[in-house]
Amino acid sequence: MEKNDVKCAQKNIMAWYRSCGRHDLPWRKTMDIYHIAVSEIMLQQTNVPKVIEKYISFIERFPTIESLAKSQQKDVIMQWQGLGYNRRAIYLHKMAQSVQNDFGGFFPEDPNILISLIGFGPYTSRSIPIFARNCDIAACDVNIARIMRRVHKVNDASEKQVIFWTEELLYHGHSRDWHNALMDFASIICTKRSPQCEMCPIKKQCLSFPDPQDAKKILRTEVGRSEHGKHIPRRIFRGRIIEYLRTHKGTTDQIGNVIKKDWQSTKDRVWCESVLKGLKKDHMIVCEDGVWLLK
Ligand code: SF4
Repeated sequence: MEKNDVKCAQKNIMAWYRSCGRHDLPWRKTMDIYHIAVSEIMLQQTNVPKVIEKYISFIERFPTIESLAKSQQKDVIMQWQGLGYNRRAIYLHKMAQSVQNDFGGFFPEDPNILISLIGFGPYTSRSIPIFARNCDIAACDVNIARIMRRVHKVNDASEKQVIFWTEELLYHGHSRDWHNALMDFASIICTKRSPQCEMCPIKKQCLSFPDPQDAKKILRTEVGRSEHGKHIPRRIFRGRIIEYLRTHKGTTDQIGNVIKKDWQSTKDRVWCESVLKGLKKDHMIVCEDGVWLLK
């Protein structure tokens, strides 16, 4: 991108963010690095309205990293209820214990150290110091990558190329606001399926305007199983199992009967056993004498 285009894109996105951004999100009102980390992990695979509700109650229940580290894993999973992808709760708990044991309770701020913590990838290890410390670096998740590929009109651009573009466009000195702006821009204007190109503040700098081709791709069907003729993703069944085991224990048949509306033991038993074994492998549940329960 030409220097002038970079400056225009930064100016236009920031102006749009000031008037249309989601400034009231609770994690945008804090600089507490632990609270920011909780919100970042929650936002990985859950939509914002649900995260708002759960973030507030999670922080009330575990206000400090010490309180989270000292808690029982099953209490953390209970508190995670409703967010789905329960593996994240386990990672968060283990991360808290690691900060307590390995870093004397001080949350690391260096991306090169953060990436060594369980559950933190290249994006979260950078986004956390950005949102908590306004650290002058760029972070790139799938949403920001989508913006970059569209603006440059290279749908199959490599990860390295996308990171280069993300760093090139970084609004230096305002990293926290800049990344908040990009997040809102990706979820309100440059959305995955229905980008609002006509009202886009950077349409003059975007080579895909007015018709980004990737928005038309067909969604791939997730792995799952039919229930009354409807395809249900496996992750939904995993969530139903955890939901059930929060208050019960059960054999494979007892669980299958609850989590699958058209359950037939002869047809579904082997499949249900494989979903349960997957959860066991992810350290979320255990099996004692043929009875499954939360770890
Ligand atoms: S013009 Fe369309 S594709 Fe390009 S950045 Fe704006 S919303 Fe995204």
